[in-house]
Amino acid sequence: VIEIRDLHKSYGSLEVLKGVDIAAPKGHVVSLIGSSGSGKSTLLRCANLLEDSQQGDVIFCGEPVTWKGTGAHRHPGDRKQMIRIRTNLSMVFQQFNLWAHMTILQNVMEAPVTVLKRDRTEVERTARAYLDKVGIGDKADAFPAQLSGGQQQRAAIARALAMEPKALLFDEPTSALDPELEQEVVRVIKALAEEGRTMVLVTHDMNMARDVSDHVVFLHQGRIEEEGPPDEVFGNPRSERLRGFLNAGQ
Ligand code: ATP
Ligand code: MG
Repeated sequence: VIEIRDLHKSYGSLEVLKGVDIAAPKGHVVSLIGSSGSGKSTLLRCANLLEDSQQGDVIFCGEPVTWKGTGAHRHPGDRKQMIRIRTNLSMVFQQFNLWAHMTILQNVMEAPVTVLKRDRTEVERTARAYLDKVGIGDKADAFPAQLSGGQQQRAAIARALAMEPKALLFDEPTSALDPELEQEVVRVIKALAEEGRTMVLVTHDMNMARDVSDHVVFLHQGRIEEEGPPDEVFGNPRSERLRGFLNAGQ
């Protein structure tokens, strides 16, 4: 569904991504792991075109992004394509980012109604179904501040699902949560993996990465240092840096 080829990204003179390739085919879960500052969030943001990049390709459902300009001036050249890609790659952030002044149901309904111009009654029906699916159907009329962190994150996942995206991008969805609350979010992500959702998951939670991923990518200073199936990456890491990274987490 989403593929990145030889992507380069700099902020001024700081080169953050130095030629990265990743592919998340339909129904696959790809996890990105790596130290703080290795470029994981930047890679996700480049994938859904929230961030420009200077070189390389982003390919969505077989269709390469059309660029305008080169180098520091490069940006997506086809606005319709950019919107199509963004709306089809729903992102879930570490800090939930729910609208504080809207109820949970309104939060979930907002983008499908205003961006996709879908019928409000139909959107409400599917929004309630997604809230049930993540286990917070009874919180539809509450405001975000009235929910626990785990419930807020599940609301954010329901909101992402309500866009009926082709893939979900998660950026550290559990790292702002207490361990007990983390598990309820992990369960939802596992269920999504089992139903064959295409996902790219940035996480510090190696157990979750091991459980849900088809493929794990270890990023180090803007390059892929090692990648492979979870059993190999976690069970038999080849690179010294990856071994060090995994040991540091124990
Ligand atoms: P973490 O695990 O801490 O979330 P990360 O792997 O997601 O780290 P990124 O957020 O992608 O790392 O950042 C990679 C590098 O790019 C860092 O050195 C960071 O300081 C830099 N960076 C990120 N965003 C910007 C920005 N908007 N402007 C300038 N530099 C940035
Ligand atoms: Mg990050």
